[in-house]
Amino acid sequence: MKFELTILGCGGAIPTLDKKPTSQYLNVQDRHFLIDCGEGTQIQLRKFKCKFSKIDHVFISHLHGDHFLGIFGYLSTLSLLGRTNTLNIYAPKDLESLIEAHNEISGKKYNFNLNFISLDFKKSTKLFEDNVLEVFSFPVNHTVECCGFLFREKTSKRKIIKDEIKKLGLGIEDIKKLKNSEDCVLNGLTVKYEDVTTLGKKSRSYAYCADTKYDEKIIQHIKNVDLLYHESTFLEELKSKATKTKHSTPSQAAKIALLANVGSLIIGHFSARYDNVDLFKQQAVKIFKNTTAAYDGYTFQIKN
Ligand SMILES: [Zn+2]
Repeated sequence: MKFELTILGCGGAIPTLDKKPTSQYLNVQDRHFLIDCGEGTQIQLRKFKCKFSKIDHVFISHLHGDHFLGIFGYLSTLSLLGRTNTLNIYAPKDLESLIEAHNEISGKKYNFNLNFISLDFKKSTKLFEDNVLEVFSFPVNHTVECCGFLFREKTSKRKIIKDEIKKLGLGIEDIKKLKNSEDCVLNGLTVKYEDVTTLGKKSRSYAYCADTKYDEKIIQHIKNVDLLYHESTFLEELKSKATKTKHSTPSQAAKIALLANVGSLIIGHFSARYDNVDLFKQQAVKIFKNTTAAYDGYTFQIKN
């Protein structure tokens, strides 16, 4: 089952021909999520063949234009395409008022309902849960209130060893217990779950750290994830500008990845001043080897 991230836009505040503003599409076992929604997101979703009519959950990290201005066009397109299912939007509280004002002024109404869930910028909060995964927000450190997001599969149940179960003649209730790592008793004898089951699939995880300065407080929320996206707006030479605008450099992103012991790092949110982003990767890999510099359309699969 898929756990796949697609970068829809890897650029910073000013869009360029090859780097659109921030937006990402995540498919976790056929659950479809949109993370941030820079200008033109619906076009990027089309371009990279994402199933955007299936997206039921949209996460907006903060209200700087390059992370949310695409929401107006995106919602309008969804409505024109005939969407009727409710769309859940996890975002700073003010986004609801902005969308309401826009609809009031334009006299438009969508064919579907919006369910707004306000982000908490003080602490880690569970935003969504189903039988497959959980999604959390956590505070990052930017010039306005801003959240990162963590997508984590639930640990799957243990797998039964069919031959052992047959041999013992275990019933459904006992099998349920064993899959949940509990022993069961059969004819007065204890059947240990380790003897008749094997480990289930490992839980995969992805953490998104949008606009943020270097802040080690983030590490507690992203520890050991398989994949981390961390913004990297300016090269080391402009570190002071990064600090002033509460953004990060490649080395800072890489240091967070290293300290958090993540599997792989993707860096992005590149300032429009840079035509070539190879230098970003070169600076990051000195600290964290498994780094990729994002580009629009880049996909990353987390394997089981
Ligand atoms: Zn920002």
